[in-house]
Amino acid sequence: MAPRALVSLTAAIVFAALAIGNVLAVGYAVAGFAVITLSVFLALRGIASEEARRLPLATVAEHASDPLEAVIAGMPDPVIALDRNGRVLTLNERARALAPALRQGEPVSLVLRMPEVIDAIGRAYASGEEQRVEYSERIPIDRWFEAIVVPVKRQADPARPDLLLMTFHDLTPLRHVEEMRADFVANASHELRTPLAALSAFIETLQGTARDDAKARERFLAIMQEQARRMARLIDDLLSLSRIEQNAHRRPDTPADLVPIVHQVVDGLETLARDRGVTVRIDAESSLPVLGEHDELVRVFENLVENALKYGAPGKRVEISVRRGLSSEGAAEAQIAVRDHGPGIAPEHVPRLTERFYRVDVTESRAQGGTGLGLALVKHILNRHRGRLSIESVLGRGATFTVHLPTVTVPAAAEIS
Ligand code: ADP
Repeated sequence: MAPRALVSLTAAIVFAALAIGNVLAVGYAVAGFAVITLSVFLALRGIASEEARRLPLATVAEHASDPLEAVIAGMPDPVIALDRNGRVLTLNERARALAPALRQGEPVSLVLRMPEVIDAIGRAYASGEEQRVEYSERIPIDRWFEAIVVPVKRQADPARPDLLLMTFHDLTPLRHVEEMRADFVANASHELRTPLAALSAFIETLQGTARDDAKARERFLAIMQEQARRMARLIDDLLSLSRIEQNAHRRPDTPADLVPIVHQVVDGLETLARDRGVTVRIDAESSLPVLGEHDELVRVFENLVENALKYGAPGKRVEISVRRGLSSEGAAEAQIAVRDHGPGIAPEHVPRLTERFYRVDVTESRAQGGTGLGLALVKHILNRHRGRLSIESVLGRGATFTVHLPTVTVPAAAEIS
């Protein structure tokens, strides 16, 4: 019987007996019964509401997967929680994208097709210790991941952890950077080894068979000098690249006028232009200030104009225009276009030209004294200046390399470097 009914029944019997035995008048007995019943009712309701207030907390504690689910849903990495029997308690959207077959309540070992991760889960349950494992996926594209499996014990020293949390880190961008660095070191070593091997071979020849041959000596020394220059250029370009990369996040803040810079570059390459029989024409505004590092901007235009003279020479004409324009977003920018009328570049090469050591024709580039780093330098310098390079070319009809740089309003001409 409920406590309230029991108390009411007892009170009813007691007050009825008192009234029947004339101890209490009937009215007092009814009033006493009413007061006691009401008090008991109110007191028990208070206890009940106290219990009711506690109830939601007790319910939450019973269904611990709710806050767990909320926390896991908010995690930036893919996360899966398993119960003590290896069944999926919950997983977030990112984990679902990684393993679409996983369902709540299902044993992970039956669905997850990652043997390395399943092994790590087994080890984590058995040892109660965190496990880390790397694995890769080939389809649809190559991707690398690290899975971290962390056993969680909610009671002191249970035989088996009551929860396993699995987190996945995407290592793909890191792997790509590692691969690029390894490729870069291999390429740089190869580029340095070639002239070094030539130098060693000529030194041996001069010490041996050509020791007393004055004509051969002259010829060999000239070749050796050219190889030594090539190595020096390569080292110079490598050092420049690394310096620019180190400063990549610092945007230059000194004003520089592009017009005198372009004239300075063309004057400096006059001998090369004359040797190639190429006429260079400049069509420029009177002044075009940008925020920039003077020497780096000189390097950009030196590379572009030199390439136009080297690779576009058969066209015999190089045109440079220095103009104000608008970017695709409508912002004011300087546009400096270097156009040659040489053989042009096949479309499949165009997107790769700014990669380090990428060349359309390695023999031709070497014959022209190229290092394969010129356009990579251009790209990095322009990135630092918040600018970009665009390349347009039609095979047989020359190429246009255009530098885009945001322009600035400079108060006084005297401040321009
Ligand atoms: P390199 O030291 O070989 O000149 P760059 O990075 O400056 O290195 O250029 C990469 C490649 O792009 C060159 O080897 C050449 O094949 C191609 N290239 C660059 N400029 C031109 C151009 N104006 N016309 C045709 N090909 C060009």
